[in-house]
Amino acid sequence: MRQAFIAAILAALASRSFASNTIYVVPCADPAKDKPAVVAALAKAAAKAAAGNLGELGLKTQVKVFKGRFDALSYGKLDKSDSAAFLGSRDAVVAAVALVNARAAKSMTGANFGSNSGSINPEHSLNPRDGYGDNIIALSLGATKTFSDAVKVKVAEGAGFLIVHGAGHNANLQHAGGSNGFDPVTGAYSPNLYVPHTPNIMTDGGVIVRRIESQAFAKELKVERETLRMFVTAPNNRAKASAEYLSIQAAFVKRFDHEPPAAKLPVQE
Ligand SMILES: [Zn+2]
Repeated sequence: MRQAFIAAILAALASRSFASNTIYVVPCADPAKDKPAVVAALAKAAAKAAAGNLGELGLKTQVKVFKGRFDALSYGKLDKSDSAAFLGSRDAVVAAVALVNARAAKSMTGANFGSNSGSINPEHSLNPRDGYGDNIIALSLGATKTFSDAVKVKVAEGAGFLIVHGAGHNANLQHAGGSNGFDPVTGAYSPNLYVPHTPNIMTDGGVIVRRIESQAFAKELKVERETLRMFVTAPNNRAKASAEYLSIQAAFVKRFDHEPPAAKLPVQE
């Protein structure tokens, strides 16, 4: 009894002093289609880009590449300030997610995750309101490359953007300009609370592609050309909440953390 009590106190102290606050990128190579080294290199570059984007949002959340085989045991060790971002060929990603969260994997195939013609769907991430959890981000490389080409960035930068966008869905956020339905900080039903209008990190991918292809808003933004980077640096990513608009930054802080991060699972340096 006493030992258990001391162990509980030590565990509480440990979790208090070392917030995990980590997004683990899980490279998913399809042995028939991918070179594992290529997927691994991309995962590393995407993690770096995503970490830079989170810093731009004023957040301390870190992004690291997971080392080893990400199985149900690893998934069980994620704490509430973590997410796992699966990155690879569509089928390899769905298979890897199915190992740890079968219902999430099913919801991804149902949502046409990875579609790379017609409606491009590079990213699918859990939003807690859907009931399958809130800690999976999934990127399909084929469609991520199509998205990145359309917005004129390298695939690592496109992936780094989509990881943070997906983390926003994990944080109970809908797309820019939409009713969020819930207050992402209190969790209360809140139909008149909106996600700030584009440009910001929660802008729908199709909207981003159309804006960058058309450059229709460059003049209004007083820039020569609108870029993907501007959806990260837009001030409304960091704005405080108002009666009408939620705070994207506060939603991330609530879902992840605002403590110095420390990965608890094995990661690559
Ligand atoms: Zn989205």
